[in-house]
Amino acid sequence: MRGNLEKFFSGAVCKFFAGTRPTMNPDTKVAIGVDIGGTKIAAGLVTAAGEIVAQSRTSMISSGDAEEGLAAVRQAMDALYTKLGTRPTIEAIGICAPGPLNPMTGVIINPPNLPIWHNYPLAEKIRDLFGVVALIDNDANAAALAEAIWGAGRGYRNVFYATIGTGIGTGIVFDGKIYHGKTGAAGEGGHVGIDIHGPRCNCGKRGCIETLAAGPGIARRACRKLSAFPNSLMKEMAKGNEKDITSHIVGKAFAAGDPAAQEVITETLDMLAYWLGTIIDLLEPDVIVVGGGVSLMLAPFLSDIRKRWRGACANPEPEAIPLLPARYGEDAGIAGAAALCWPSVHS
Ligand SMILES: [Zn+2]
Repeated sequence: MRGNLEKFFSGAVCKFFAGTRPTMNPDTKVAIGVDIGGTKIAAGLVTAAGEIVAQSRTSMISSGDAEEGLAAVRQAMDALYTKLGTRPTIEAIGICAPGPLNPMTGVIINPPNLPIWHNYPLAEKIRDLFGVVALIDNDANAAALAEAIWGAGRGYRNVFYATIGTGIGTGIVFDGKIYHGKTGAAGEGGHVGIDIHGPRCNCGKRGCIETLAAGPGIARRACRKLSAFPNSLMKEMAKGNEKDITSHIVGKAFAAGDPAAQEVITETLDMLAYWLGTIIDLLEPDVIVVGGGVSLMLAPFLSDIRKRWRGACANPEPEAIPLLPARYGEDAGIAGAAALCWPSVHS
């Protein structure tokens, strides 16, 4: 990070901090990305090449007065400026926040894990506070755009992105633009169902891929395996407490040759392949990019998922579609939020 920062300040971008509005030379453009979660805010300065040259992490309050939430965003920006040692002139601020939200109007509607904001015009408030264009979107849409512009999806026209962690978030980028649907609610691929009789998802539906193949779903299926495999390494790795089995433990037990973990992984690959097969039949993207915490555990199996596409979709050439690991990990929110700014910075 320090090396990046020194390079950043020693290069042409220094002009940017002289206090005057910069010329629109693509090499000197930066944007600020703010990633708002239920408990934390991450803010970062991002270059035109998608490099995060500085970032800060501060606390978010999830309930209380709506304006206190806005004050927390201001604190996050101040923390970033303190880290930079200067207050850069910026063209735009991109924000990703928990949904549901309306990316067109910039209004946060009623996020379950951020009840401090209810029908709150966040983009307008940020615009008034900082005097620049503010754009908002949900984290998966934003991360999809960052991957399409700067990451694994760069150079491809149409990108389908999935982040697999405690849930499954997805984003669709067509021709460099996020596909939002009529009201901004499109691209919820994690709630595409693969089993009408499956377990109930947090969204109310049954059998969504999220409830079956995100981290908690993998762990739940692993727990159920223990009745048939009482001596599984997964139990030992969780120190005898079945409830402490995580998808990370499943991956570790698989690597150690545990048969129960092998069954869980095989089922997970079958489910993800079937789900992505459905996505391919619907969208036929040029590339599929996978990120998120659980995707690190699944990274060695991406080619196995691809092999399973034949028979899991009607597309005549599913194996021609690359399935690639994402460029951005924990910083996907910052990069994604900054990516939202790019069209307006460039215009
Ligand atoms: Zn669901």
